[in-house]
Amino acid sequence: MTTSFHPPVRTLMGPGPSDVSPRVLAAMARPTIGHLDPEFIRMMDEVKAMLKTFFKTDNELTMPISAPGSAGMEACFVNLIEPGDKVIVCQNGVFGGRMKENVVRFGGECILVEDEWGTAISVEKVKAAFAAHDNIKALAFVHAETSTGVRSDAKALCKIAQDNNALSIVDAVTSLGGVELDVDGWGIDAIYSGTQKCLSCPPGISPVSFSDKAVDVVKNRKTPVPSWFLDTNLVMGYWGGGGKRAYHHTAPVNSLYALHESLVMLEEEGLENAWARHQKHHLALRAGLEAMGIGFLVDEADRLPQLNSVYIPEGVDDAAVRAALLKNYNLEIGAGLGALAGKVWRIGLMGSAATQRNVMLCLDALENTLA
Ligand code: PLP
Repeated sequence: MTTSFHPPVRTLMGPGPSDVSPRVLAAMARPTIGHLDPEFIRMMDEVKAMLKTFFKTDNELTMPISAPGSAGMEACFVNLIEPGDKVIVCQNGVFGGRMKENVVRFGGECILVEDEWGTAISVEKVKAAFAAHDNIKALAFVHAETSTGVRSDAKALCKIAQDNNALSIVDAVTSLGGVELDVDGWGIDAIYSGTQKCLSCPPGISPVSFSDKAVDVVKNRKTPVPSWFLDTNLVMGYWGGGGKRAYHHTAPVNSLYALHESLVMLEEEGLENAWARHQKHHLALRAGLEAMGIGFLVDEADRLPQLNSVYIPEGVDDAAVRAALLKNYNLEIGAGLGALAGKVWRIGLMGSAATQRNVMLCLDALENTLA
């Protein structure tokens, strides 16, 4: 007879999901109510209001998509890109590649601007790409590349898009809640995130926000949005304002309790304090790793505090060390991806996992395992 599943209690210091606080898990276990219950709708309005605060936006179209970050990404492209549209996509890691796939699948023409994995997106290359091509509809890039631990200059990149009358589409899956992000201040037109990184929620929900300009682009499409589920015109019938909500899909009620609780916790801490906490623990981790002779892949100025890509010391068996950390310390760190597989570890300090306790645990566990 199959028995109930009881997962081991791990410390999650990989590229996500990150540790979920007991408060968020407890919120998730509260009684399920109807997704059109007036009390649920009241909670939805609070979720929207808090997302607006943390994205730093007044965008009316700000809501959580009932699916993971990849669906938030797809929601941006499927709504904004039509066949024949030209889109500049920046790729400096795994997730820029996924953006390119989206553009191509929705019939767009992708102009790829590539930078080496582990470096930030080159603002100069993006300017050159705009200079070399007419009628660019959008610029798409990843703010925080989880595959490498690089932060790109989202403010400067969005300014280039604006100067060229193009939309900006920004991946903030790993940045929201961990590093500075200012949707209205930087003029971002479409942005998506994920719950499982610096918001420290279980995976499976993707907060998105569209500027009024982006909403107009969707409303004036020549062709219908080719996805029924992700068509913002339809989803907003459920998530829109005014208290009038119509059934679109059955919302993941308990997962939204979790998101609500994690946003309440972020409100209590203060967004800027959360950014500072990530930076503080990153610096402590860096000091400890460097003392062990372990160096960073990314230049200091472009490092994400919440995702530390560090070189695996010469002669060390990558998989064996990660397996030992899991077995002996219940500690998960991430492997390298693509060309960086076997060369780097990705050590996450995301959301609730960005604590002094975790920094000490990770340093101690690594030191003992490598000894
Ligand atoms: N974009 C970035 C930068 C990510 O790190 C991830 C997930 O790790 C995604 C998109 C996709 O999110 P999900 O795995 O929730 O679909």
